[in-house]
Amino acid sequence: MINEEIDTVVDRAHRWKKLAESLQKKYSSPKYPAWRRRRGILNRIRSYHMKARNTLEDWARKSALEIVGLAKKLGHAVAREDLTGLINTLRRIKNKDHRKKLIMMGYKRLGKWIDWNAKKQGVPLAIVNPSGTSSKCPKCDSKGLKEVDYRRLRCPRCGFEGDRDVIGKLNIRKRALKKLRINPPGGVLAPLTAP
Ligand SMILES: [Zn+2]
Repeated sequence: MINEEIDTVVDRAHRWKKLAESLQKKYSSPKYPAWRRRRGILNRIRSYHMKARNTLEDWARKSALEIVGLAKKLGHAVAREDLTGLINTLRRIKNKDHRKKLIMMGYKRLGKWIDWNAKKQGVPLAIVNPSGTSSKCPKCDSKGLKEVDYRRLRCPRCGFEGDRDVIGKLNIRKRALKKLRINPPGGVLAPLTAP
């Protein structure tokens, strides 16, 4: 759900960025006399950059509040991925892909606000390492999951089958429960109710 949401938010932020850039380009051309580059234009460019940032920040703050608020209401803990790996990977991509940068910024801010809200509201938080979570069987920990259909994986050892995203989330949940030392009565594969 968050994945789809961040896409639309990033699209919105990206549009502001593009507006800022096209203005910047237009008015830095030598065709335009200096008076054109006066304060008004610079302020407009700056305000577009700010709008891009605020779009992400607002979304992150609102979503974090929703997630942590729901967890508190239901008496759940919140698990989130440790994003260091993701951020480092994206940082290594040295192209001018602003979209990827905005996605990274969005996740970073979301993480920051989740941590802040969890602390403030006293909701237990587990930050887990996401590496391998989408290729490991959540039931028997076997690593050889096979793709059987579009985005569907199956474990050849125990026969567990599921959607790639769901498998990732089950593994995150499993690691989080271990970290928080919680043993749910239905086992770690009990139905997912937390966001
Ligand atoms: Zn298995």
